[in-house]
Amino acid sequence: MKFICIGRNYAAHAAELHNAVPTKPVFFLKPESAITRCNRPFFLPDFSNEVHYETEIIVKINRLGKCISEKFAHKYYDEIGLGVDFTARDLQRKCMADGEPWEIAKAFDGSAVVGGFIPKSKLPDPQDLHFHLLLNNGKVQEGHSRDMLFPIDTLISYVSQFMTLKMGDILFTGTPVGVGPVHLNDHLQGFLEGQCLFDFYVK
Ligand code: MG
Repeated sequence: MKFICIGRNYAAHAAELHNAVPTKPVFFLKPESAITRCNRPFFLPDFSNEVHYETEIIVKINRLGKCISEKFAHKYYDEIGLGVDFTARDLQRKCMADGEPWEIAKAFDGSAVVGGFIPKSKLPDPQDLHFHLLLNNGKVQEGHSRDMLFPIDTLISYVSQFMTLKMGDILFTGTPVGVGPVHLNDHLQGFLEGQCLFDFYVK
């Protein structure tokens, strides 16, 4: 399986990192070895001094698809969850300045936190979902899927033009404004429509 991660899908987040608002989706991959699940701790990597949380709505691909039209994209996922796209921001800044790929900043072991999923049938419209992150019990990130620059169906259609989506692949749909650093022993809890879908510590 692979993680397909969308960058800059919320205008206010693009602005906080001084990036332009994109005119088409921006995506990158994380390998299967990046997964952290079941509320296991996230281990700070020793090659970065500035690891940021990015809380994101995630969707699990449920069938094989290539060149999926936007109209049918909704048939390719039936569960929606919440995850964290951990990012070594210091390395990412350097990669961008040097015109290099982002993998060392984005695809490292443990960097893709996958929380719980909720069947789509038990949620409101996928573009009408509230989510937030508590860091040490204080709300630091809050988003709403209606603010996505490119909705989920557009993302699935766009990515599938370039690579086949397979059952079990997970799409990270981008982070809202409010990203920031994590430190040793921080406690992160993520909520989608009021339901806690992840709860873990930084070690
Ligand atoms: Mg992200």
